[in-house]
Amino acid sequence: MLHLILFGPPGAGKGTQSKILISRYNLVHLSTGDMLRIHLKEQTTLGVEAARYINQGLLVPDEVVIDMIKEHIESNPHAHGFIYDGFPRTIEQAAKLDELLAARGQQIGLMIALDLPDSLIRERMCKRAEIEGRADDAKDEVIATRIATYHQKTKPLLDYYSTQNKCVQVGGAQTIDEVSQCTCHIIDRLIQHG
Ligand code: ADP
Repeated sequence: MLHLILFGPPGAGKGTQSKILISRYNLVHLSTGDMLRIHLKEQTTLGVEAARYINQGLLVPDEVVIDMIKEHIESNPHAHGFIYDGFPRTIEQAAKLDELLAARGQQIGLMIALDLPDSLIRERMCKRAEIEGRADDAKDEVIATRIATYHQKTKPLLDYYSTQNKCVQVGGAQTIDEVSQCTCHIIDRLIQHG
């Protein structure tokens, strides 16, 4: 079973590329950002609690997202594979995901890391705020916190997966088509050669 991580800073195009990959490879999309936004919209207890972090540009606590991921993996026993989008975002989350998969005799196949300079991250988040109206995309200080959080807590995952020989970088500043051509090529190779 294929377990693929789509990694990158906010605005790198993880959501857009995920959509292309899930239909091409018949994978289940696990986006912790999307899951949290549903809780926010429905004002669940979890959503109200998570909003405090999200609206400041901070990460929600590890246990919250790990539990959500576990639940979604378990509720899709017949999945062909999974694509993780926006998860893991900390070393703790990655270690827990490894544990969770190992308990099922599975493992992460690959992390595809979309790379994007900070200036482009800011530009894309501002554009997305206009289109989608996401509050956490709109304010300069929230954007700055999200970028800082990415560098501090999330970027170390590049090393975590590189050490396991599971990380491939793709330039996220290319067009949507160029990025998807690169990622599909990488995934095809993984499927063919293991
Ligand atoms: P982005 O546009 O940064 O990729 P997402 O839609 O993935 O954003 O997530 C939005 C917000 O939800 C994040 O800024 C964070 O507060 C929270 N969040 C999403 N995924 C995680 C996670 N794996 N761990 C902690 N917090 C998360």
